[in-house]
Amino acid sequence: MDFLEQGDSASWPSSAMTTSSERIHGKRGAKASKWTRQEAMEEGELPGLGEGLPSRPAAESSRPDATFPKATPLAQAPPLAAAGTPPAGWGFLPTDCASAAAGSSTDHLDLGLGIPAIAAWGYELEGLEEERPAPCPCPQAPLPWLSWDDELQKPGAQVYMHFMQEHTCYDAMATSSKLVIFDTTLEIKKAFLALVANGLRAAPLWDSKKQSFVGMLTITDFILVLHRYYRSPLVQIFEIEEHKIETWREIYLQGCFKPLVSISPNDSLFEAVYALIKNRIHRLPVLDPVSGAVLHILTHKRLLKFLHIFGALLPQPSFLSRTIQDLGIGTFRDLAVVLETAPILTALDIFVDRRVSALPVVNESGQVVGLYSRFDVIHLAAQKTYNRLDMSVGEALRQRTLSLEGVLSCQPHESFGEIIDRIAREQVHRLVLVDETQHLLGVVSLSDILQALVLSPAGIDALGA
Ligand code: ADP
Ligand code: ADP
Ligand code: AMP
Repeated sequence: MDFLEQGDSASWPSSAMTTSSERIHGKRGAKASKWTRQEAMEEGELPGLGEGLPSRPAAESSRPDATFPKATPLAQAPPLAAAGTPPAGWGFLPTDCASAAAGSSTDHLDLGLGIPAIAAWGYELEGLEEERPAPCPCPQAPLPWLSWDDELQKPGAQVYMHFMQEHTCYDAMATSSKLVIFDTTLEIKKAFLALVANGLRAAPLWDSKKQSFVGMLTITDFILVLHRYYRSPLVQIFEIEEHKIETWREIYLQGCFKPLVSISPNDSLFEAVYALIKNRIHRLPVLDPVSGAVLHILTHKRLLKFLHIFGALLPQPSFLSRTIQDLGIGTFRDLAVVLETAPILTALDIFVDRRVSALPVVNESGQVVGLYSRFDVIHLAAQKTYNRLDMSVGEALRQRTLSLEGVLSCQPHESFGEIIDRIAREQVHRLVLVDETQHLLGVVSLSDILQALVLSPAGIDALGA
């Protein structure tokens, strides 16, 4: 067998032979509360209803190699209830919304929760209208940071930080999901085809000699392989056909193996956000501390979805009603873009050089006409056209089988709350910031949003560091 599905292999740690994370945790006696929480998330119910918030103490890290700086101001953070008692009528999900959300669960690995849009971040906050800035007459104007710093000083600005501190990775994990694991002796071509065949974006790598997980294989790795070995459309990429994952890792990493970044289910969601952003990765495996088994793979999307659903219970900070321009959340300078007429090879060069997750695609007048993300590169494997890197990005976008129509964008005058709603609803990793004429102004990604909601209130800048 070339690649291992969980529960399917002799070399697999025995206690990992389950796809149901609740079974393992049942041993700790935490099953009932976890189950309730997990079901609540999947069914669009809200945690802590009738229990009051917060419902559990801040999670402790049991991970010896945790990358989270333990001595942060968060250690002294007050409990959530102290962060600001919600004024009557603020931001609580009405009962009818909760029931409308029930029964909508489809749980794929990467955010298949399918919760209907809940108008949880709406900004009908009485008395805040006068604080809303007038629409900016000049969208190209520099975006000030001061106002965001001011917002962070206001009472209640730390509400999402506390929420993520007080909930564990276990709370945000799917009850069951497909998890495919690759042995490092698998050929890389088969591995990428297996990702496609299973509709997955990433897989943990299992080293049977070391009897441990040693890394992840993601679409970025596919890009790195193509970038290194592609020569021309006429030359077969021999290495992609022949190399094993371990051979590629030895050649590419040249002995400097980055250890697997992982998290324990008992660690807080705050730590998960920190680990993802700080390490500039998009896949965070949750490892069972006892068996070492991978229980789930957390992503920015799943974390934002969790916060979006359950954030409805929390008092809404005033910054949600401020415009994205005012708050300056996102990247607005030195943007990496690609021309629609440029070959895919150019896009791959930019992905490798700039380490960005997606490129706004622009026409010759600088208008945004599409978005080419690292995810889209996997279509080359799906269609076995990875020696066609001379194809234009515009053509590649037209050939996408499962493509989103057009570009999901936002404008500078839109509120932060509206933007969070849209990005959560559309289940994409970023929105492109454009003016009325579709000219590019910036990129607002889930990393920017989670940094702003969760880490900035703690005084941590993992994104800029
Ligand atoms: P993608 O956006 O394509 O899913 P990532 O940004 O997560 O990819 O991955 C960037 C690089 O970091 C890849 O080489 C990948 O193998 C590696 N990587 C991803 N996740 C982890 C992890 N949890 N631990 C160690 N390395 C990782
Ligand atoms: P991932 O789950 O790997 O982070 P992405 O969100 O980057 O995936 O991309 C998933 C799909 O959605 C890709 O086909 C990508 O081109 C598309 N997509 C992502 N963001 C946008 C956007 N802002 N506008 C249009 N399409 C987008
Ligand atoms: P991401 O990898 O998308 O999670 O984003 C990490 C950081 O890179 C965020 O601050 C994004 O705003 C920024 N970013 C994402 N895409 C681009 C791009 N095309 N050009 C410049 N910065 C980007």
